[in-house]
Amino acid sequence: MTKTRFAPSPTGHLHIGGLRTAVFNYFFAKANNGQFILRIEDTDKERSKDEYTKAILEGLKWCSIEWDDICYQSKRNDIYEKYLNKLFEEGKAYKCYCSKERLEKLKEEQMKNGENPHYDGHCRNLKEQPEDKPYVVRIKLPEEDIDFKDYVHGDMHFSYKEFDDFIIKRSDGSFMYNFTNVVDDIECGITHVIRGDDHLTNTAKQIALYRLFDKNPPEYAHVPMILGEDKTRLSKRHGAKSVLEYKDAGILPEALVNYLIRLGWSYGDKELFNREELIKYFNLENLNKSAAVFNPDKLLWLNAEYIKNMPPDELLSYLSGFLDESCKEYDKEYLKKAVETMQARANTLVELAEGMKFYCKKPDVYEGKGSKKYLKQSVKEPMLFLLEKLESADFSNEESLKEAFELTMKEFDIKMVKIAQPVRIGLTGRSAAPGIYEMLMILGKKESLERIEKVIDVIPNPSS
Ligand code: GLU
Repeated sequence: MTKTRFAPSPTGHLHIGGLRTAVFNYFFAKANNGQFILRIEDTDKERSKDEYTKAILEGLKWCSIEWDDICYQSKRNDIYEKYLNKLFEEGKAYKCYCSKERLEKLKEEQMKNGENPHYDGHCRNLKEQPEDKPYVVRIKLPEEDIDFKDYVHGDMHFSYKEFDDFIIKRSDGSFMYNFTNVVDDIECGITHVIRGDDHLTNTAKQIALYRLFDKNPPEYAHVPMILGEDKTRLSKRHGAKSVLEYKDAGILPEALVNYLIRLGWSYGDKELFNREELIKYFNLENLNKSAAVFNPDKLLWLNAEYIKNMPPDELLSYLSGFLDESCKEYDKEYLKKAVETMQARANTLVELAEGMKFYCKKPDVYEGKGSKKYLKQSVKEPMLFLLEKLESADFSNEESLKEAFELTMKEFDIKMVKIAQPVRIGLTGRSAAPGIYEMLMILGKKESLERIEKVIDVIPNPSS
């Protein structure tokens, strides 16, 4: 069975790059009827923090990247010891007592001779093991070149000479990343590893470990890094936020997942993918070979698409944390109608919530530019006339509202915009807002008339 994993180290927040790795692994597993495992690589006690683990879990849950199983490396020491003992028994690992000073001197000499610094195997075959002396554990690196096929990078080749007997256990007793990573991938039966291509060299070392354990390595796809628009590695500088910050900024998780999947993978020129389509189409063959550039505007565009096309019911559940206090008094049906009129006009949930606030609260100010342009003394009389017509109109019937406006236009021989804009400003405080009739129908007669009366009050009287 296909089994993938996402293996974050909880030494920082979950970022766009990490989430993308999780998304790729998740959809590859699901596309192949397989399992997706979450492994928290928290062996570094100093730098790992519970709050980061919590944020990682929360970010993944928010994006509905659900794991079939979860494990924490900090609880798996017994397993690592077992694997280490096996290496000792088979003479594939050894304790190294070399002092810092010796290693530094060695490095200096090697560099003087134009060699790459590497461990010289001094402790490989010690006759006697000194007692009470701190030691690290090193593997005996197999003297075989390392070749593997990568879905993105093709045929990879590393000479064993590029590596040395690297350390797998530190002198404080903690295990090194490459060791625990391989042990866990073996133990969990991971079949495919999809991760950033900054791990390519680690992969070569890890394959050496698979050899020592007499196991076949998984298949690999090392995806190019995400870059900022200036083509340097994506960071906060480029406006990239942690995953939960996108949530707070009013991005829909569906949009973020869709955006990330396209950041390094493509399926023809299709841009919008729902989950079912991703489960159907996602593969490793279509991973892009070149680095992807993070484009915040495209994310906003996608988000707007998702907001526009989402059933109002569903949208409302995402919106609840963003809505103005005043909206809490209104029932779901009312808010649903309000959302429907606004959802095609917002890039984010923050914008949507802000934009629909007027449905729940009278505007306290009228937009300056619009007021200057539309609240002119020449419309005072037409507005008073319209108000009177609206008083006797049926607000549940669009035709009846239309009639009130048409009568006004005819009476004063003016265009719709002349009266529609003052009404719009009166209802919402702004001159750009949804259709007049839909707003009037949703707000209802009493509320609409109160707001129109109020805006008429600020229109200057015609000079007599
Ligand atoms: N903990 C490693 C990291 O966060 C995992 C890398 C891997 O996927 O093997 O970079």
